[in-house]
Amino acid sequence: MEVSPGIRVDSGNRQEPITEIPDTFDVKGFKCVKCGLAHMHDTTKHQLSKDFDISDTDAAQMEYNSVCHCGLQEAGRHGSDMGIDESSAARAAGNAPIPPEASREMNEQFGSL
Ligand SMILES: [Zn+2]
Repeated sequence: MEVSPGIRVDSGNRQEPITEIPDTFDVKGFKCVKCGLAHMHDTTKHQLSKDFDISDTDAAQMEYNSVCHCGLQEAGRHGSDMGIDESSAARAAGNAPIPPEASREMNEQFGSL
């Protein structure tokens, strides 16, 4: 039996300690659990509760994520339920794309923008 000289087992330092991964991820960005959109920034860049002056409680009632584009998209569809100026949310949502799949689901649930 011959052992091929090209085979090497690479067991170097390729794995970072697992504890460092969540920290790094938090700092650099997050992936929305609702629409799947990956953000390259933290969760404070856009917050409906700040941008539209609604309470955190109201923001938490939302179907989608109030710190993600999908929350803005939702606000543009039925934001008045939460005291949000729907037309200004809808305008902002025009610059806040979400994955097509999420967009389609939202259109079915709340109607299109
Ligand atoms: Zn989202």
